Amino acid sequence: MWTTLSSSDNMISEMFKVALQLEEPWKLTHVEFDDMDQAWHLFIDFARGATFACPLCGIACKAYDSEKKTWRHLDFWNWKTYMHARMPRVKCKACNKITQVSVKWARPLSHFTLLFEAWAMRLMAEMPVNAAARELREHDTRMWRIFH
Ligand SMILES: [Zn+2]
Repeated sequence: MWTTLSSSDNMISEMFKVALQLEEPWKLTHVEFDDMDQAWHLFIDFARGATFACPLCGIACKAYDSEKKTWRHLDFWNWKTYMHARMPRVKCKACNKITQVSVKWARPLSHFTLLFEAWAMRLMAEMPVNAAARELREHDTRMWRIFH
């Protein structure tokens, strides 16, 4: 069952906010936990009308469209943790191009956050990839992708 925690008035959401260190215009909107899968789901979003720097020239642009994405993040209290956000693209007037905005917490196209990847790399330095995958409860094909 998924249980939703409201973003404003509880300790757990406050703790996630501190831990995530999100920068404007990104905000934690709510947290859900799934006790079947024993996983946290952190939902992150930006306000309507928020601007993002064009990846090509740096001019502030409004989001043109967006696509939902999920990343595996560091475990909290030994539960898997996922971040969910819609990734905006900007249509820059100066460049006359539509480009994917990058985010601080993950590399483009990765299914993991940078912090998760760093943790996985530490484990893979100490044990075989399949053992690290077991420890992290991930597919070893995905682990190899981080490794390379
Ligand atoms: Zn531009």
